[in-house]
Amino acid sequence: MTDVNKKHEAGLARPVFQGGKTVPEWRKDPIADRWVVVAPERSKRPSDFRVPRRDRKEPGRCPLCPGHEADTPPEVLAYGDPARPSDTPGWRVRVVPNKFPAVRDLPPETGRRGLYEWQSGAGRHEVVVETPDHVPDLDGQSPGQVTDVLRAWAERSRELRRDPRWRYVQVLKNTGWSAGASLEHTHSQIIAIPFVPAALNRELAGMEAYQQATGRCVLCDAVSQELTNRRRLVHDGGSFVAFTPFAARFPAEVWIAPREHAPDFAALGTALLRALADTLLAVLRGLSRALGAPPYNLVLHTAPAGDDRAAYFHWHLEISPRLIITAGFELGTGYYVNPLPPEEAAAWLRRANETREERS
Ligand SMILES: [Zn+2]
Ligand SMILES: [Zn+2]
Ligand SMILES: [Zn+2]
Repeated sequence: MTDVNKKHEAGLARPVFQGGKTVPEWRKDPIADRWVVVAPERSKRPSDFRVPRRDRKEPGRCPLCPGHEADTPPEVLAYGDPARPSDTPGWRVRVVPNKFPAVRDLPPETGRRGLYEWQSGAGRHEVVVETPDHVPDLDGQSPGQVTDVLRAWAERSRELRRDPRWRYVQVLKNTGWSAGASLEHTHSQIIAIPFVPAALNRELAGMEAYQQATGRCVLCDAVSQELTNRRRLVHDGGSFVAFTPFAARFPAEVWIAPREHAPDFAALGTALLRALADTLLAVLRGLSRALGAPPYNLVLHTAPAGDDRAAYFHWHLEISPRLIITAGFELGTGYYVNPLPPEEAAAWLRRANETREERS
């Protein structure tokens, strides 16, 4: 722990946040060793964080719609009618290499230019077309359809990990233009890279340190605390639990984790993929109902293949609605300011789900 962090702890030896709306509190994420200041704004209620329905761009020809298969590189995986020829309609989920990849299928190379280090932009960048329907998100899709999306994430992750060049496979989803989506048609991305990313290393180190100090897993403990305390619980799906993390960086940030310890998302079997789809849908529908279909980023954190610390890792999804703009304080300090206490966000999301259940 840094001196700065020690100072924060000393300065806040007694909790100053007591459910009131005006007293800020520094909170630490126990996995990533990352501080966040929860600084509720006096007059703001959760509904004040709604942003306008996804800022639509003028729709042109959508390269992800059925019938436009030739607009993308040839598919690497598709679920659908087994008799259909490749790259023709009839698919339910389709995975294609990204036409404009951030990284390319190159040999990993490194070098220096004076004091500067570089690496070749080696990697694999794929797009998962999540449904043939031209819709902006998964929230209106069936559990079976979402299960197929999750199955495609797992299947491609396993396949990409067989290539010894790739040390990590990042699954992510950007929804809404202001969250970075460049196509409206709901899709996710799979990016294999030749090293373990810093964010993952940080979580691996946090999980290993907690394991060594206590003999237990920090996320197993967190899940059990959230299920007992319930103030940050968003949805209890049985095998999967959705909650707002104690040190949430963003208003209405939600994590989904398996209740039982599990390092590797890609090892999930069919029944668990289906259960995860149910929980993910409950969260996405709750966010949509509560926030009017906000732009959001979803990231999957799972154990890297071949890492000694992998067994300590507890995989999870992090869903971060983009309701506020991060600015100079975050850039200057690396600390996020969250104006919506996660307890309030969770209560509000739970209510959104209850309303849905009453109506259905
Ligand atoms: Zn489309
Ligand atoms: Zn665990
Ligand atoms: Zn994480």
